[in-house]
Amino acid sequence: MNNEEVWQATLAQIQLIISPANFATWFKNTQVVSQKDGKVLVSVSNSFAKEWLENKYGKTILKILHSLDERIKEAKYTVGKTNLKVLRQRVVVIPEIGQLEFQEFQVQKETNLNPRYTFENFVVGPFNELSQAAGWAVSKNPGFVYNPLFIYGRVGLGKTHLLQAIGNGVFKNFPKKKVRYIPSEKFTSEVVSSIRNHNMENFKKKYRAIDVLVLDDVQFLAGKEKTQEEFFHIFNSLYEKNKQIVLSSDRPPKAISALTERLRSRFEGGMIADIGYPDYETRMAILKTKCQERKINFPEGVLNFIASNVQRNIRELEGALTRLSAYQKLNNQSPDLEITKSLLKNLILSPKTIVTPKKIIKVVADFYDLKEKELLSSSRKKEIVKPRQVIMYLLRKELKGSFPFIGRKLGGRDHTTAIYAYKKVVEGIKKDESLAEEINLIKQRIFSV
Ligand code: ADP
Ligand code: MG
Repeated sequence: MNNEEVWQATLAQIQLIISPANFATWFKNTQVVSQKDGKVLVSVSNSFAKEWLENKYGKTILKILHSLDERIKEAKYTVGKTNLKVLRQRVVVIPEIGQLEFQEFQVQKETNLNPRYTFENFVVGPFNELSQAAGWAVSKNPGFVYNPLFIYGRVGLGKTHLLQAIGNGVFKNFPKKKVRYIPSEKFTSEVVSSIRNHNMENFKKKYRAIDVLVLDDVQFLAGKEKTQEEFFHIFNSLYEKNKQIVLSSDRPPKAISALTERLRSRFEGGMIADIGYPDYETRMAILKTKCQERKINFPEGVLNFIASNVQRNIRELEGALTRLSAYQKLNNQSPDLEITKSLLKNLILSPKTIVTPKKIIKVVADFYDLKEKELLSSSRKKEIVKPRQVIMYLLRKELKGSFPFIGRKLGGRDHTTAIYAYKKVVEGIKKDESLAEEINLIKQRIFSV
């Protein structure tokens, strides 16, 4: 196979196993530039992508290459110019992230959607995987897979982005379908003004003609009975006609007080998926994606500092980049670590609320009702071993501690013990839903001050 053929065949397989957003982010503008003596050289568009492909997908890529051609034993990556024309013809959907600057995006009148929010620039990690997958499925087959789809999560973690991506996705896949995105507060004020202006019939007609209704932040419907009643009828009318309804909230339906029982049971009748807190790795990936989008570049150490210190809110991650980028433009140079620290002072959590190894150990101990001392002891009792492994996993995942460091923190254990614990929990989460759920709850406690 020539360079192009071998790479197209590889991309085709990769596309099957990773999310569209990740594919678009990391494989855009890649190509094989040479093959020699079992070595394949892949050219990528920037150093982020290079690092990401090497570390995250390196093994998979090599495996695929090797399966295509047994002689291939090694893949290397290089930053270089790519031949866009060839790629555009051959690769199916690789969006041009960054083609438009943010300011150029405008809310579309008909759908009320902002084209800026797409699946392609929505980074997927363990914290939002389920929600993204459900949303993606809905955008491919609205009305028939998960109805309603109810997404919940804390503020600034991507609910609006995902909801709009679903809307934009439907709009792209089914241009004839009527999509409408509306924040709940706006919906409420429409109800109020329709009543005041005796315009209720029109209001109802407008909503009943919609194919995909996306209602953001439904927690704001709490206590507004008239709005809830109107929404209940609209919901039923759409649902009966297999029209898609997508909802978001900052908490699960059960936890929204002052919501009528019948509406709550409607909300719970479809698929409920949550968005949790992104781990360090995903925070880094988000920063890098946003840098790409905005065509800005910062030293690795600076990005690492942001990802380590801005932990709870993706909007704040973006805020940090905006601030640094303003500095960069004004001074015509990248901020170094010291400057970064001072520029981001008020975004960074106070030492009290920042997540430390100590805090993780304490939260896990409390969660499993154990004493910290027991966890650090040499006991091999099952009920202690598991929480101890969870701690090691979280130290790695959330704080990016080195394995020797983690071993030391856990009462002077060997680094191999820490590696084993980390892998065990990673595997465990994949197989055991209740363990995954436990860890989510623990993370919520760790991050909620
Ligand atoms: P929420 O509605 O949950 O408060 P938003 O959807 O408004 O949060 O997200 C806040 C910001 O973070 C937005 O600018 C959004 O584009 C960005 N963002 C959130 N999640 C992601 C993600 N997974 N990948 C890329 N950007 C994200
Ligand atoms: Mg929102």
